[in-house]
Amino acid sequence: MQLYNKLSAKERAALIEEAGEDRLTLSFYAYAKIGNPELFRNHLFIAWDQMGVLGRIYVAHEGINAQLSVPAQKFGTFKKFLDEIYFLENVRLNIAIEHDAKAFLKLKVKVRNKIVSDGLNDASFDVTNRGIHVDAEKFNTLLEDPDTVLVDMRNHYESEIGHFRGAITPDVDTFRDSLPIIEEDLKDYKEDKNLVMYCTGGIRCEKASAYYKHKGFKKVFQLEGGIIEYARQVEKQKLENKFIGKNFVFDHRRSERISEDVIAHCHQCGKPCDTHVNCANEACHLLFIQCEDCGMEMNNCCSEDCMKINSLPYEEQKELRKGRGNSNKIFKKGRSKVLKYKT
Ligand SMILES: [Zn+2]
Ligand SMILES: [Zn+2]
Repeated sequence: MQLYNKLSAKERAALIEEAGEDRLTLSFYAYAKIGNPELFRNHLFIAWDQMGVLGRIYVAHEGINAQLSVPAQKFGTFKKFLDEIYFLENVRLNIAIEHDAKAFLKLKVKVRNKIVSDGLNDASFDVTNRGIHVDAEKFNTLLEDPDTVLVDMRNHYESEIGHFRGAITPDVDTFRDSLPIIEEDLKDYKEDKNLVMYCTGGIRCEKASAYYKHKGFKKVFQLEGGIIEYARQVEKQKLENKFIGKNFVFDHRRSERISEDVIAHCHQCGKPCDTHVNCANEACHLLFIQCEDCGMEMNNCCSEDCMKINSLPYEEQKELRKGRGNSNKIFKKGRSKVLKYKT
């Protein structure tokens, strides 16, 4: 029985092109007690591989977190499959507003310790005592309230290209780092302010809201389904859109445009731009914001050094990389010193 990918990303891309079928990009998560994550992982892989589902899925004892691309024609089968798993019956599927058939090119189902890396000791507080879930309409109303403090639970490279007006956007690289920083910044608001939080699809707020309640915040709210679901409801119900810019997403699309505002800047020349790219030098791969002009001028690289390396024959590049492992810069996401205009 096949439990792992056999096709390379390139082969898969060609197959998708050839099939010419529509694919839906979607995500969902659920906290649930999973006794044997390994077994559950194999069950998912076998079924989804047959349906032509692609994506990145994390399974842990605490639940599942999935980002997927599903052939539109197989959506019914896929949904039925989910509904047969008791903790996934009627799970909210965050369906993207923009689709890209190549959002994912592999099916990767991984067993992890946690479905979101939050650095929390779950035994130390009640993870089920979460904040109040609010929909887009209620969220908008809360934002009008002068007693509301709005916090973006995402990382700096995500909020840099888009966020809700008036939100506090912590300057952090990881969700893990953000929890104590936000707590310290907001400690005077525990009693009387509405602590309203949001993230991409809602999953980070599930844990964070329970954590902050445990830390003494009295009125905690979270945007149900995150920015993805908010955008959908705003469009469907013709509500006022309070989100400016793009929503950063974790697939090949990299972002979804929610409003026409461009709130970020090219990290190399400083002009308005909100397009993330990865440095073309394989050994660097830095994620940063680069405009088209700079992309041309710099050969899609982040620095002169990377340009030099990138222009070498592939074998020579490989030789240079030997023993160095993958560059740490990947995780710095736009914080590299070589970039002039970073926020
Ligand atoms: Zn530029
Ligand atoms: Zn680079």
